[in-house]
This record gives sequence, structure tokens and C-alpha cells, in this order.
Amino acid sequence: MTRLLSVLLAAVAGPAIAATPVDVVIRGGTIYSGADAAPITGDVEIAGDRIVYVGPARRTAAARVIDARGQIVAPGFIDAHTHPDSYIRSPDRTARLNLPWLAQGVSTIVAGVDGGGTPDVADDARALAAAGIGTNVVPFVGFGAVRARVLGQDDRAPTPPELAREQALVAKGMCEGATGLSTGLFYAPQSFATTDEVVAVAREAGRRGGMYDTHQRDESNYTIGLLASTREAIEIGRRAGMPVHVAHLKALGVDLQGQAPQLIATIAAARAAGQDVTADQYPWLASGSSVDAALLPRWASDGGYAKLRARLADQPTLARIRAEMTENLRRRGGRESILLTSEGQPWTGRTLGQMATAWKLSPVDAAIRILRTPDAAGTGPAGVGIASFNMADRDVDLIMRQPWVVTSSDGSDGHPRQYATFPRKYQTYVRARKVISMRDFIHRSTGLTADLYRIADRGYLKAGKYADVVVFDPVAYAPRADYVHPRVPSAGVRALLVNGRVALADGKPTGVAVGRVLLRPKPANCPAT
Ligand SMILES: [Zn+2]
Repeated sequence: MTRLLSVLLAAVAGPAIAATPVDVVIRGGTIYSGADAAPITGDVEIAGDRIVYVGPARRTAAARVIDARGQIVAPGFIDAHTHPDSYIRSPDRTARLNLPWLAQGVSTIVAGVDGGGTPDVADDARALAAAGIGTNVVPFVGFGAVRARVLGQDDRAPTPPELAREQALVAKGMCEGATGLSTGLFYAPQSFATTDEVVAVAREAGRRGGMYDTHQRDESNYTIGLLASTREAIEIGRRAGMPVHVAHLKALGVDLQGQAPQLIATIAAARAAGQDVTADQYPWLASGSSVDAALLPRWASDGGYAKLRARLADQPTLARIRAEMTENLRRRGGRESILLTSEGQPWTGRTLGQMATAWKLSPVDAAIRILRTPDAAGTGPAGVGIASFNMADRDVDLIMRQPWVVTSSDGSDGHPRQYATFPRKYQTYVRARKVISMRDFIHRSTGLTADLYRIADRGYLKAGKYADVVVFDPVAYAPRADYVHPRVPSAGVRALLVNGRVALADGKPTGVAVGRVLLRPKPANCPAT
């Protein structure tokens, strides 16, 4: 055999041992269960959408046998923070298979994060199920979507009836199966909300068993500062009575590098005091953002894009914007630390510094030129995606080792983390630099993540659990995408099963779209129907 793994369609000889007819056997692999435990060598047997046996090899007959000798067998990875809309909501069925994640061995993604999730969770779940998607999805209701629906893009507090409407929308999302409330307080218009407003709204999720998942207000020193921002997230969880999960934990920007110890101490203190506080992290030194989010002062966006353009056309206002953008660019590490990544633009794949030189402008004026260029609909700037190189290895390593940190991609269009996060973490942080072990990498990408998000019956290889299983080659499993070529599928996944069906074989999608929207059971304090 030229391949280590072959997929046999014929039945295998030998007596059937299992009572239930077995559909798939993954035979002879090194099995990591998803718990923080040593691996075993043996078989995983699947009937329908469930695992029926995990243990020492035995000769069970099955319709399909996957030879996993020399391979790693683990629960399908769970990605704790994703932006998958251009795939799972694509009109193209092939795109909806969600190949960027399948090819990394990811079977479940957490979505609706950063405040983006619709409160219409049930309708959305029905639409996704009807369309057919390749991975499971854990939905959040998003504060941004809720606030925009009630208050638009305005920088003001809600009136009491408006606050009640925000609360009702969050309650609706929770009653329809959301896992919790997500926020993105860094982003306008969510940034316009006070802590008290967020607490009042989050409480509706807290009293229905939800968790608070936040892209916090400040990951750097833009406004209140990283540590005050993390304390705010902890306060919101405490006052709203819910677990806090800080998304993509990091110390961002030249002024914050080296501050991971203080950041970790802030969270550790809350945990020591009995609060449930956790985080996820992506294994990259560049964040993905946009020219406006990274460089523009928030007040410049108040009221939407037409108002921003008017401000950019007004000389005194432009001078103020320029001054603040100059400081934000310094914070981010300067002109060469911003890589422009939106596809199909004259500036794609070039740094802000390179475009400034090409246009004979200052880097800030080059950024303003990009912001002034409207998209096709005219409702926002075109091509503002960036990779912002702003993190330090020592911070990333230290955060990665904390026992309450799980793997996420924050996968979004234009950044290679969408296609390459899990294999990059494995190749760079497990194999090359040995920051964490294989067992730890798998635990933090499966069982621990399922525990934090309370994802029922997934994240572990155990009889009775859903059959989300990845088989990968410990040498060939590797990233292929990079910052300039962000859309290259990762290599080395020999098989990925989602709900008992083989969704990817030898790196290629099989075409089955059997992902499910994982709705939580309706909380008791919800309307009957
Ligand atoms: Zn985010």
C-alpha cells in the first residue's frame, strides 16, 4: 500500500462482536480521547451518528474501515471563535461544506461571536439546516446585532423602552437555543455601550444559563487599557451571573507587549475568587482587523459611513482624525506592521508603508485614502482588511499554557488563521517549539472546549458521544496558507467524520453536508412555544 491509510468500502471478514451493527471502524490508531490523558492504541467504532466503542483493537466487521495505523485519532476539533459567514452562508453548496475548517480537522465551530450573532436563532438554524453545512455550529446571540437593531449606529444610551427591547431580543435568542451572549465592545456601535448597559442586557442571557463571550473593549491601550478592559469583562460576568469567556486573549501593540503576566494574573485572581473565567487564543502574531477598526478613532464612525466621509472632507475634523490615527498606527507597530489583505484591491498583499510610498503620501493619509474608497454598495469603505503584526512570542507562549485557554482561529476572510490555525498550532507550538504537548493541544482543541461551552456529547471519544472524529498524519498535518495566500487548505487530515459521516477523506471533502446547528435545550424561564 502506498498510503498509510486506505478506506475500504468492502465488508471486512471476521465475526461481528458488537451488538449494534457498526458502520465505520477506525482501526489501529493512536487515540487521544479529548481528555487530558495519555493516548491508547486501538479502534473507534461508529454506528449511525454515535461512537459505540473506543478501546483495544478488536476485529469488528463494518461497512467502512479506516486504517489509522501510524495516525493520530482524536475528537473532531472544536474552534472556539470563528467568522465563517462567507462559507456557511454562501449560495454555493460547495462553499457551505466549510472546507477551510474541514481541512484542519475541525468538526464544530462557535459562531455569532464579537457581538455579531442574530437574535433570530431558530430561524437562522432552520435556514442553515435547510441549506446544508459541512460543520456543526454553536450559535451565540450578539450584542452588536441587538443594539444595531434597536439603536442603529448611534453613540448614545438607550432609553428605558429601548433597553427593554434589547433585553427582549437577547431573551429571544437564548430561548431559541443560543449558547450565550457575545459582545464586541471594541467595535462601534457596541463600543458606545456603558458597562451598565451591557450588564443589563447580559443578565437576560445569564438568567437563562448563557455564557458571556467577549471581544473585549480594549486589547491594547486605545481607550480604557487592556487590564481595565479585562476587569470590565469579569465585572460584567459577575454582575450578570454568568461565566465569562474572553475571546482571542492577547496583549496587543508595542506598548502592551510583555504584559501577559499581569493579564493572566487578573484572570487568575477572579478564578481564585470562585468566578468562572476562561479564554481562547489563536496561535498567530498578527491579528486580523480592518483599517477603520485598527486606526480610526471611534467617534469618527458615529452615525455610519456617510458621516465618516463628511468628517474626512472637513479640514479641521480631518486634522483631529489624522492626529489620532498617527498615534494608533504607532501603537500598532508602525507602517510596516499593517499588511493590507482584502482581496481584489490594488493594495492587496502590500503593507501600508509600501502603499504610502507608492502613493507619495504619509502612511496615515494612505489609510485615509483607503477609507475614502467606498465599496460597491457605497455603504462602507472597500478593501479595509488587514493583518496587524502586534504580538510578542513570549506573551503568546505564556497565554497558551494557561489551563483555562482553548484553541480558536478567529478565522475570517483574508487572514490565514481561517485555513491554518490548528495545524499551525500543532506544527509550531507542539512539534517545533514544544510550548505545549500533543495531548495538551488536543485537549484544548476538543474536550476542554466542549466543557467550557457546555457542548453536549461532543469533544470526547467515548461510547455514546457523537461521532465527530479526526484522523491525521502526525508528520503531514501542516498549514499551507500564509498572510499573502490566506486561502490554501491545510494538509494532513486523512479523515474527518462529522456526525458519523466521512466529511473529508485524504484532504478532500466528500460532499456530505451533515453539520448541525447545536441548539441548547430551551431554558425553563422561556415562553412555552
Ligand atoms: Zn474578535
